[in-house]
Amino acid sequence: MQMVDLINKKKYNQALTREEIKFIIDGYTKGEIPDYQMSAFLMAVYFNDMTAEESTALAMAMRDSGEVLDLSDIEGTKVDKHSTGGVGDKVSIVLAPLVAHLGAKLAKMSGRGLGHTGGTIDKLESIPGFNVVLPLEQFKKQVFDLGCAIVGQSGDIAPADKVIYALRDVTATVDSMPLIASSIMSKKLASGADAIVLDVKVGSGAFMKTLKDAEELSRIMVDIGKKAGKKVTAILTGMEEPLGHKIGNALEIYESVQTLEGNGPEDLTQVVSVISGHLLKHAGVVKSYKEGYKLSYDTLRNGSALNKFYEFVSAQGGDINFLKNKDEILTKTNTYEIKSTQDGFLEKVDALNFGIAAMKLGAGRATKDDVINLFVGIDLHKKIGDPVKKGEVICTIYHEDKGLKDAIEIINNSYVIGNKKIKIDLIKETIQ
Ligand code: URA
Repeated sequence: MQMVDLINKKKYNQALTREEIKFIIDGYTKGEIPDYQMSAFLMAVYFNDMTAEESTALAMAMRDSGEVLDLSDIEGTKVDKHSTGGVGDKVSIVLAPLVAHLGAKLAKMSGRGLGHTGGTIDKLESIPGFNVVLPLEQFKKQVFDLGCAIVGQSGDIAPADKVIYALRDVTATVDSMPLIASSIMSKKLASGADAIVLDVKVGSGAFMKTLKDAEELSRIMVDIGKKAGKKVTAILTGMEEPLGHKIGNALEIYESVQTLEGNGPEDLTQVVSVISGHLLKHAGVVKSYKEGYKLSYDTLRNGSALNKFYEFVSAQGGDINFLKNKDEILTKTNTYEIKSTQDGFLEKVDALNFGIAAMKLGAGRATKDDVINLFVGIDLHKKIGDPVKKGEVICTIYHEDKGLKDAIEIINNSYVIGNKKIKIDLIKETIQ
């Protein structure tokens, strides 16, 4: 096989075989195919798309480029969840102890934040002592004994995706549906779970800005998962405004504890319950999604999964006194209040801008090597549709001076207050 012939084939919009795709991925990962040929191939995919079979072959070839976790010695269905990334998205931190408490086994690898979206691993690391690097045997034992574990993604998982993503980033080929879908699914398939729920965020703060794009991406990912023998459900959830009230690493841990205590924001409680409902159904813990949703929602509201969160944090070396004394998190930085300039209803709370403002304060990374501040961030006191009065505090900024001026300006331009009481759909669609 010659790479030039395969580029030509894709250029003329002909479907590649599984063997041809494997040849490309293996060759590029080993350094036998040069960047210029791979770049031409990626651009041909960008313009001519891929069939469902090609996308699946691509995801599987990238999965097989590294370690594929074998979780089969943990009895029962192992579940996993993935979010395409949003602002204030602390779903995994609440979800893991919840599903473990209810009898499922969640084995999850998570990422760090980049740009306007935060990462679960950074958030968990704001708990003193929390260890995100566990040897595989310990990771498996914790899932077996406790029901959940969350670790950082090992460099051995889908290494082909890492090098291809870096090339896509500099060749304007990131925003291709089959490339995004196979990139995400290669890592999920390598992580060893039997059932996966994908939380595909839609809206200003998300990778997918429109429902149509989110539907297309979801269909491709669900298809790849099923063809690879997994149970997969995609939930399309709103990211027009940040999820919950708090944005920032330790602030999001605060809100996760609050949610597990039974006092969480309604939107976060609902998104976690929807995902948990599907995972519990896939794991055979409940007979129907509806039953799983109700069980999850009621469990969050009655606070009975909180203890499992303490056990999970303790098992990974974290200090649970940090969680028990969560109010101290709110005293670690300076605060600045933003007040409403008029009476009315909140019509827009632009998620993307809030993510950028939090990044400017130091809660997120503009580049991979930036060092983040775990305690700065933003607390939104009002959500879209809420009434506000002139002079009322609508948002508190937790800061250490860095980026404050920029953040205030961005936030002031991110609120629209008018006289319409808008209701946004949080759970937009389910694809399975
Ligand atoms: N997230 C990924 O993991 N891969 C992509 O291509 C885009 C978002």
